[in-house]
Amino acid sequence: MISRMIPRLNSIHLECRECGKIHEPDFRYVCEDCFGPLDVRYDGVSVNRDTFSGRAHTYWRYYEMLPILDKSHIVDIGSGMTPLMRADRLGDELGLKNLYIKNDSVNPTFSFKDRPAGVAVSKATELGLKAVGCASTGNLASATAAHAAKAGLPCHVFAPGDIEVPKIAQALSYGANFVAVDGTYDDSNRIAAQIGEQKGIGIVNINLRSYYVEGSKTLAYEVAEQLNWEVPDRLVVPVGSGAMLNAICKGFEELDELGLLGDVSSMRMVAAQPLGCAPVVDAYRKNQDIVQPVERPETVAKSLAIGDPGDGRYVLKRLKQYKGHAEDSNDREILNGITLLARTEGIFTEPAGGVAVAVLKKMVEDGKIDRDEKVVCYITGNGLKATEPLMEVLPKLDVMKADVEAISAVVK
Ligand SMILES: *Cc1c(COP(=O)(O)O)cnc(C)c1O
Ligand SMILES: [Zn+2]
Repeated sequence: MISRMIPRLNSIHLECRECGKIHEPDFRYVCEDCFGPLDVRYDGVSVNRDTFSGRAHTYWRYYEMLPILDKSHIVDIGSGMTPLMRADRLGDELGLKNLYIKNDSVNPTFSFKDRPAGVAVSKATELGLKAVGCASTGNLASATAAHAAKAGLPCHVFAPGDIEVPKIAQALSYGANFVAVDGTYDDSNRIAAQIGEQKGIGIVNINLRSYYVEGSKTLAYEVAEQLNWEVPDRLVVPVGSGAMLNAICKGFEELDELGLLGDVSSMRMVAAQPLGCAPVVDAYRKNQDIVQPVERPETVAKSLAIGDPGDGRYVLKRLKQYKGHAEDSNDREILNGITLLARTEGIFTEPAGGVAVAVLKKMVEDGKIDRDEKVVCYITGNGLKATEPLMEVLPKLDVMKADVEAISAVVK
């Protein structure tokens, strides 16, 4: 059915999420019949729980379930296999007995975006593309730029000009051509799509999106393996475009289909969004199955400021499928979520992680999560990328004279 140029133990194809039509796994991302998004499917995968145990501590350990046909095309900067930490002190504070933090803030470019970007840049290499790029809310810029640097490919970033300075400095340092757009993420996305098409550039989260999301699903694989192949009861996921939440569900489903995990149908998904940009939460509350875009996102969680989420409607489907819930949190709750996680677990996250913690806290307080549930909270980005808004809630510093007596008085 599908012809392959490079032999591999198992093959892949693209399947339309809407009509099911099968496509070749090449440089395409929408169905030629219905314009639906295309998902990668794997044929003839033969793995068991022991297959991965001795392998490298990166997400490439799941090579058979990633869409790169020839290993020599893998662009690896050491992403993935981040810690899954038992979070007993945060759990005590919230009233949870089995809380885990998936700390993806310690990836090479300090966000989970190293997963999708790494797979997409690898695929760009495999497809022979001459340049890559992305539309970014901040973190994808650096993740794409770093992998492009490693691959020796030029990288074009399209992002709103008002994102956090550390994220801009980081992406520029990797050598990206950073196009700062005077507008929203949605404006940047539209421009990136057109330029990608015009110039044949592999825009990782647009025309390489089918491959891109395969990286994010390793957030499911790793958690499953780190929990000794047990299915969590509840997963709290920050949502921007919704690609990650959807990919995490796909990941767990694939493990179930491969017989590596028990039944995943009992797991429950939580979509966490910031109040100033919560189109998925709004649609969920109104019980709608499409998302009404937010024109002007206004939130401290800039990495989640996507007014028109590409996978929004699929997140709503996932919430139905997995008896899910969607919840938002305001700027103050987000900043408090950051310091709560830092104070209790020694993990410093950016506002997107604060959104997840704040939503988790709210749901426990509202009695929506049981104290015995096995909960995994995804912390997707690093605190050092967005320190500025935190200064509002942190103690102000008084620079003191270097005098032992005076200083001794403030150390109680
Ligand atoms: C991009 C991003 C998200 C949201 O991921 P989507 O796939 O767009 O939903 C969450 N957290 C951080 C830190 C991000 O950079
Ligand atoms: Zn279709």
